[in-house]
Amino acid sequence: MLGLNQDYPLLLSSVLEHGAAGFGDVAVVSVNREEHVRLDYATLAARARRLASSLRRLGFGPDTMVGSLAWNTHRHLELFYGVTGLGAVLHTANPRLPPAQILYTIDFSGYRTLFIDTDTIELAESLAPRLRTVEQYIVMAPRDAMPATSLPNAVSYEDLIDMGDPAFSWPVLDERTACLLCFTSGTTGAPKGALYNHRGTVLNAMSTGAGNGWGLSADDAILAIPGFFHCNGWAIPFFGPMYGAKLVLPGRRADTEWLHRLIVEGGITVGPGVPTIWLSMLEYCQENRLPPGRMNRIFSGGTAPPMAMIEAWLRDFGVRTIHGWGMTETTSGATMSFAPRALPEQAALTVMRSPGKPLFGAEIRIADDNGAVLPRDGTTPGNLQVRGAWSAASYFRRPEIQATTEDGWMHTGDVATIDPGNTLRIVDRAKDVIKSGGEWISSQALEDAACRHPAIAEAAVVAIPHPKWQERPFLFAVARAAITEAELQAHLADLVPKWWLPDAIRFVDSLPHGPTGKLAKNTIREWIDQGKLTP
Ligand code: ADP
Repeated sequence: MLGLNQDYPLLLSSVLEHGAAGFGDVAVVSVNREEHVRLDYATLAARARRLASSLRRLGFGPDTMVGSLAWNTHRHLELFYGVTGLGAVLHTANPRLPPAQILYTIDFSGYRTLFIDTDTIELAESLAPRLRTVEQYIVMAPRDAMPATSLPNAVSYEDLIDMGDPAFSWPVLDERTACLLCFTSGTTGAPKGALYNHRGTVLNAMSTGAGNGWGLSADDAILAIPGFFHCNGWAIPFFGPMYGAKLVLPGRRADTEWLHRLIVEGGITVGPGVPTIWLSMLEYCQENRLPPGRMNRIFSGGTAPPMAMIEAWLRDFGVRTIHGWGMTETTSGATMSFAPRALPEQAALTVMRSPGKPLFGAEIRIADDNGAVLPRDGTTPGNLQVRGAWSAASYFRRPEIQATTEDGWMHTGDVATIDPGNTLRIVDRAKDVIKSGGEWISSQALEDAACRHPAIAEAAVVAIPHPKWQERPFLFAVARAAITEAELQAHLADLVPKWWLPDAIRFVDSLPHGPTGKLAKNTIREWIDQGKLTP
């Protein structure tokens, strides 16, 4: 027997209209270079409707795909609604990828229209002669600053807004309609596309934004540091209107001093980003004795955060860490740590250290190399698999890749343990784990141990082939104070098993980071192969 509820599809246009109706005067602040714009959800929704109606007049609709090559601005946010609300799909290309990979993702998706902004116009001009399908560029610039460009068929975005109808009514779509396309950042190979639908995107934002996740409400102000092109901007584009939280969009600039200013002046309560961002911010706040304003929590995702950083944020500034695990294929987060306020400090830190438990709508399990499911005993490591309402079933136009097991669990490429209470601990990426003498050494755990030394700012551990042990760990470290190799070895010897100790340590001025701010271990391996970085 079917229930008698109304048929109410979960659509992104409903998220926007929810924000416009209930939180119409909550601010969206967009600061891109000289252009500082303050609007609110009512205005944002009207502009998104105008955009949608203009696009429809130009022939865009269900099944059309368009792309964006842009930083986090209010116009880019409008695309998330104006394009998807029509039933069209927005591919958020990542301007931080190497040009060849940007070309690959756009050509592979094969659309005709690309939205760019004032900070990506030069990049687009350099790519344009090689882009096989793009015929039209829509420049998201302020009206009085529409730049001169060599791009063919460059149209002003603000003209589309002016021409549009602010009373446009959104079509009622099937909630399984595709809305957004993100590619993996290629940390471990050629980018692969995850094509999200409205239903999964809405459920992901509802579940990750709620109490045991980001804990969002209309009390919050979020600084949108993660690029909208990375895992749907970690659902931040939807959090604002869904929870009535203020959004501050920082444009291209990402230096610490600037972000700190935005945090303080914008009354930011929650700061999301990869650990590198929060490591630099921590040092900046400590060195300059500048607290981070109203910010009471950071959301750390994308890669393992050093424990020393989590502790220092709490100890020095009372800032708690919400730690999440996710991947492009899981839309944004799938598990998150939640440390109840009543927990004693040490217990709370233990909780923050792990990427937590699955949120409702996501499930996790681990399996051995033959696919047999392994126990949730907190010690047995296995290949992490995930399933749920916002996990990918397959890759965009890559049917040859088997994304899931036969019973529908997605392969993640991570090695993890799960404890009896369903708490996840990532051991490593399968490709980064160091296989030494038939045993595994976690590069992430070794990096974390190194970063516990106060003189170490950042560390990267990679495997080097070894004639007897198959692989051995080599540690590259960035020091912030004087330290010798022997001192660091002695520090590590206190924290990890003896056979984990790196065969050599090399101090470097900086380590390479990939297009989403994560350590680029592939680059480190290439440098080693090329003899540029010798242990
Ligand atoms: P890429 O694989 O190209 O980096 P993603 O951004 O989709 O692209 O990365 C997903 C991967 O990031 C996960 O499979 C995992 O290896 C890593 N990751 C994400 N969150 C965490 C975390 N909290 N701890 C450790 N690793 C993480």
